[in-house]
Amino acid sequence: MTGVALVTGGNRGIGLAIALRLRETGYSVVVGSRSGTAPEGLSAVELDVSDPASILAAFERIEAEFGPIEVVVANAGITRDTLLMRMSDDDIDAVLNTNLGGSIRLARRALRSMLKAKHGRIIFISSVVGLMGSAGQVNYAAAKAGLVGAARSLAREVGSRGITVNVIAPGFVDTDMTAEVGEERKAEILGAVPLGRYAQPAEIAGVVEFLAGEAAGYITGAVIPVDGGLGMGH
Ligand code: NDP
Repeated sequence: MTGVALVTGGNRGIGLAIALRLRETGYSVVVGSRSGTAPEGLSAVELDVSDPASILAAFERIEAEFGPIEVVVANAGITRDTLLMRMSDDDIDAVLNTNLGGSIRLARRALRSMLKAKHGRIIFISSVVGLMGSAGQVNYAAAKAGLVGAARSLAREVGSRGITVNVIAPGFVDTDMTAEVGEERKAEILGAVPLGRYAQPAEIAGVVEFLAGEAAGYITGAVIPVDGGLGMGH
């Protein structure tokens, strides 16, 4: 028996692959995004993770319609890449608020029913650059590194209640987000990936499926790289 899963940013890219995989596994999947859309017959809810009120409203709607949420995948994320000298206050605030603050607030709201159920799975989608660093991504890498501290702290808070909190750190995945990266930079990254190719969104989804399932019941506070070896040693 599997329950309800919420995937933020599940309407495209990595999030969509995660949503489809969890649905295949038998979860009732709800996809949350600013646009509130969901392709391929998935259930959708309007949810802006940068807006605390929007998170609360989305949970109310999901719980009323589908029941308590068992698996939360904090996948929604944005980039505002540029060298720090040129980075605006808004670039810093927006990326930290969406990628880090949004994930923390999402987890906090998800705990309500998970604590009652004495079971739950919280999965943060971080990035290889959170641990390696990346020129031009000070805001993004800080937010992604912050997710590791957040997950490990929360894992300690709620471990005794049957709730696991883990982090996935993908490398370069071909999506709308990385479509903005220039060809020269792409070739440079590819050259540093031991497996010599980008990840498919489904390869991130497979690890989410594993972490959500019973086989991962004794894994918490872990950071799992899915990066073709790019971040080895970090
Ligand atoms: P995309 O840009 O393709 O998709 C981003 C998703 O996040 C969209 O569904 C978007 O939906 C949603 N989103 C953005 N802002 C918000 C918000 N404020 N509230 C709710 N939803 C939001 O990104 P990817 O699929 O490439 O990335 C998914 C995650 O994986 C991100 O956290 C990213 O940082 C991480 N990642 C990606 C890598 C890559 O190489 N692609 C590598 C490592 C990590 P909408 O616009 O409708 O709101």
